[in-house]
Amino acid sequence: MRICADVGGSFVDIAMVDADASIHHRAKFPTPTRDWAGFVNIFRRFQSTHAAAMAPDDAICIAIAGLPEPENGRIISANIECIHGRALAQDMSAELGRPVFVINDADAFVLGEARLGAAKGHRRVMGIILGTGVGGGIIADGKVLTGSHGIGGEWGHGQVIFPSPKAPAASPLFQCGCGRTGCLDTIGSARGLERLHHFLHGTTATSKEITLGFAAGEALPSATVDYFTDIVAGILSVMLNTFPATIVPVGGGLSNSAELISAIDRKVRMGMLDAPASPILATTMLGGDAGLLGAYFAAE
Ligand SMILES: [Zn+2]
Repeated sequence: MRICADVGGSFVDIAMVDADASIHHRAKFPTPTRDWAGFVNIFRRFQSTHAAAMAPDDAICIAIAGLPEPENGRIISANIECIHGRALAQDMSAELGRPVFVINDADAFVLGEARLGAAKGHRRVMGIILGTGVGGGIIADGKVLTGSHGIGGEWGHGQVIFPSPKAPAASPLFQCGCGRTGCLDTIGSARGLERLHHFLHGTTATSKEITLGFAAGEALPSATVDYFTDIVAGILSVMLNTFPATIVPVGGGLSNSAELISAIDRKVRMGMLDAPASPILATTMLGGDAGLLGAYFAAE
């Protein structure tokens, strides 16, 4: 058994996870983003409540909305202030008396899908998240690829939006949360899809309304999705020509639209130099459990 947690900017999802990937004693708490003692206490209380179910040396494995620096374990987190700059694994281990392992949440997603889900059996995987933001993780030869500052597979940032003939006026060079302009994140996320829809048509709609409208063949949502899929698939096909993953599991809220994922998939394969005959994008099999289950493997 391991104590696994998926820690986001809003909630801490915590449970005991078995070697056979079964989940027990699952609980959810608001994330105390500015309160370190409160943050540690979620784990301390969970330990004492379920002490009978765990061995003294069972590890704590945390998938975090942040980037752990591989050299010293310090976390860069924009959303959770109380862990930003902390050597999270060491500090929590000192507080809780157990081994603690920390992994970036997008890396946990791709690891979970590679071990148990849509990418099982694949050695080269590019997992992508199209949700609150655009994120991703890469598995090369069965291992998560992490670079300096824990950055690997972060294809959502850096300017990628340039003038397009499909835009009615100037290209939509939106400001990104990372401080840059024209990042994929500003268009490829759920809010980005809504922003793009408003930019193109001057009307507001939720990402769900847009994807449902597209699936139903409505004109405005279809035009938005056509532009959206050009941008997302164009960049993804470059990624796949650079790193030849054999499967791309997709998570995040937008992955709930099978029509959207298959539209991206068709354009991605058109841009690949060595395109497979069958879809390369695969909807997450682990869904909302991917972070928890992927965290389990951080201890290996
Ligand atoms: Zn950015």
